[in-house]
Amino acid sequence: MSDEFPYSYKIEIDKAPRPKPPKQTAVIDQTGCTGCEACIAFCPVDCIEIVPGPVHPDFMKLVEVDLERCIGCQLCARYCPWETIDMWSWEEGVEVAPKLTVRSLLYDYEPEEMHEAAESRG
Ligand code: SF4
Ligand code: SF4
Repeated sequence: MSDEFPYSYKIEIDKAPRPKPPKQTAVIDQTGCTGCEACIAFCPVDCIEIVPGPVHPDFMKLVEVDLERCIGCQLCARYCPWETIDMWSWEEGVEVAPKLTVRSLLYDYEPEEMHEAAESRG
């Protein structure tokens, strides 16, 4: 299993890296995310980040998983009230992530790869 990550960070993350590559990773389908932040409370490694809203930081915000730090524990997927987080194998997860991402705070995804609803990328 490769932990090679194809995307670069847009911001500096001042948090500890995970100890070893995960078997699975969580990917949020942001088209179903309400920004309720429930998942953040369950993540044991604090790897779910708030993506500020495109107009105002506290309005229309979303969240995204830091795929390079997720340990694949599944807790966020289990407790998201809107069932908009799925678990993927690591290889599938990094491939599908841009297609499920509307806006990213963390990664420099290719705009053409991102979800077609990504009209306001941040
Ligand atoms: S719990 Fe689900 S809907 Fe709420 S912020 Fe997390 S991903 Fe979005
Ligand atoms: S699977 Fe676990 S480690 Fe990964 S984002 Fe969800 S709660 Fe955090």
